[in-house]
Amino acid sequence: MSHIRAGSVRALSSALLTSLFLSSAAGAEEAHWGYASTVGADHWGEVSNGAMCAAGAEQSPIALSTASAVHANGYTPSFHYGTSRVRMVNNGHTVQFNYDVGSTLRLGPNEYKLAQFHFHTPSEHTLDGEHFPLEVHLVHTDAAGAPKVVVGVLIEEGLVNAALFSAFRHLPRHEGEESSPVGALINASALLPFNRSFFHYAGSLTTPPCSEGLEWFVMKHPIQMSDSQIAAFERLPHINPNNRPVQPLNSRVVSAQSGH
Ligand SMILES: [Zn+2]
Repeated sequence: MSHIRAGSVRALSSALLTSLFLSSAAGAEEAHWGYASTVGADHWGEVSNGAMCAAGAEQSPIALSTASAVHANGYTPSFHYGTSRVRMVNNGHTVQFNYDVGSTLRLGPNEYKLAQFHFHTPSEHTLDGEHFPLEVHLVHTDAAGAPKVVVGVLIEEGLVNAALFSAFRHLPRHEGEESSPVGALINASALLPFNRSFFHYAGSLTTPPCSEGLEWFVMKHPIQMSDSQIAAFERLPHINPNNRPVQPLNSRVVSAQSGH
């Protein structure tokens, strides 16, 4: 990738070496994955549980095209999100917001639990050929706790996102760090655009193990965050960039539906 920063690569390499000495059996490519140089997306298939990243035919993200999407006639997701404490963790790949229990997404007869959301920079999906500065993924799990439905929302620069105001001023900067600003609450509904038009397709996790069988709903309309909020995420060490390149569509059909 062209926009790798030398500093990030150096820091990542030293972290990698440290843990390699701790886990002697695994080779470098098996032990770690990331977004830079030798541990980047082209190598995820070599990670111990990452075979699907290279072999899968229904991988995410993809390039979304307004003109080529067919009309959706499946279930429309309905969001039943409540308020959660802000509990962030920097897992070395992104900042993940673990969500309090009780918020769900319904899809026809099925109900999924909102487990967490997290961010990518730049966006993983492209819309009509364009990346956005950020993309948020709201991850919903089935009764067994497996991710099944992911809602992706593209983020453009604009007005400050008030719901994320406190959180984005206290982002955990380093791998393994957690941050829970005292009293901070969030309702994930604030991460959804007013217009709920969406693209829908069958895809995968965008990180190893790249498991397939996920339903993706990517909102057609972006939400906004301020330039300083976007910059706060972009400046986190080792996390910019943290987008997997778009994957071949193969025989999949992308549908689209107008919202309300
Ligand atoms: Zn993601």
